[in-house]
Amino acid sequence: MTKVININKSTEEGVQDLLKHLLESGKVKAIFTLKALPENKNGEAVSYSLFTSVDAVAQSAPLFPLMSRNAAGLLSLLTQKSEAPVPTAVLARPCELRAFVELVKRIKGNMDNLFLISSTCGGVYPTKMAVGGGVKNDLPNYWSAVNSGEIPANIRPICKGCEEFVPFTADMTILVVGSNDASKECSIFLNTPKAEEFAQGLDGNVTDQELPADKIQQMREARGAEKKKLYEEAGIGSLGLKGLTEIFSKCINCRGCRTACPICYCDLCTIDSQNFAYQLTESEITQKGGMRVPTGTVYYHMTRLAHVTISCVGCGSCEDACPVDIPLAPIFKKVGESVQAIFDYVPGKDPDEEIPLKTFELDELTEVED
Ligand code: SF4
Ligand code: SF4
Ligand code: SF4
Repeated sequence: MTKVININKSTEEGVQDLLKHLLESGKVKAIFTLKALPENKNGEAVSYSLFTSVDAVAQSAPLFPLMSRNAAGLLSLLTQKSEAPVPTAVLARPCELRAFVELVKRIKGNMDNLFLISSTCGGVYPTKMAVGGGVKNDLPNYWSAVNSGEIPANIRPICKGCEEFVPFTADMTILVVGSNDASKECSIFLNTPKAEEFAQGLDGNVTDQELPADKIQQMREARGAEKKKLYEEAGIGSLGLKGLTEIFSKCINCRGCRTACPICYCDLCTIDSQNFAYQLTESEITQKGGMRVPTGTVYYHMTRLAHVTISCVGCGSCEDACPVDIPLAPIFKKVGESVQAIFDYVPGKDPDEEIPLKTFELDELTEVED
């Protein structure tokens, strides 16, 4: 059984109470979460922010269903040189925490001094939907679906198929998926002794509970069915080089997917190096009879696939950034699942587990499949 604090308010209000309490009690000195921007006109200009003042909590929007940037990359930016200088509470979604753990394993971030809070995640909208008020208008439908145990209709396709919506490494888990009514009650699971200590003094009823296994399982099955549909729609399974060439034929090589991907962590991407500079020769032109320019589009994606799939958390940020709507998320997630299954590896699950590609066993991978 896990200690749970139940606050008699909407989940969003309850989480704001928690953040205020953490700052006021001095348990943390800073908060990293989504916050409405000052120029917020239509209620959906939110950005991750780091703030220290209790007054700023009122503008925080910790559960707002938008992920304009995956928090892992931002946390890496803040902590890769050294740990957070003051105790900091981080509120992010499960896939963001998982991606951050993968970055920490690559010495691209530091978890010391961070207090991790996450939720059973209802999913996020495509960022493009926030332009023009689409998210704000749809929010009542989002929360009504979440409260009825359904998948919100307009969230990112990859979120509809996300089965990893329960966080692995959070000190506290806010019950969103699986709650009886997130608009009336806020339940915060205290997963670690630190969480129990930090919650002391927070107004609410403390009980012993487990996450509602039946509701979580029901949602996992529904999402599994959606994932299957998504893979079928993207034609994954039957994609050879020809299929990939077709899918990526729309790619304009802007490399926005790389910038958005939290797992693409290199300071200098090999694709931008001189090694990848195209060598145009007369014989190549005459032998090929011409070529698509920019060149190497499929090569770029194959390189990214080779580099990120062991740690891809299926967050969908790559697809979200793509200006030409290439279904990147199901491709990367599916290839990721195949690679991860070979090593029995779940990215972001256990901060102490080595990344398989960093270790080498003499007797592994002795058979090569066609
Ligand atoms: S991919 Fe999963 S964890 Fe990430 S935002 Fe979507 S539903 Fe939430
Ligand atoms: S490849 Fe795409 S889905 Fe996978 S971690 Fe990167 S951004 Fe997320
Ligand atoms: S974001 Fe889209 S268009 Fe840009 S490089 Fe990636 S796949 Fe190509």
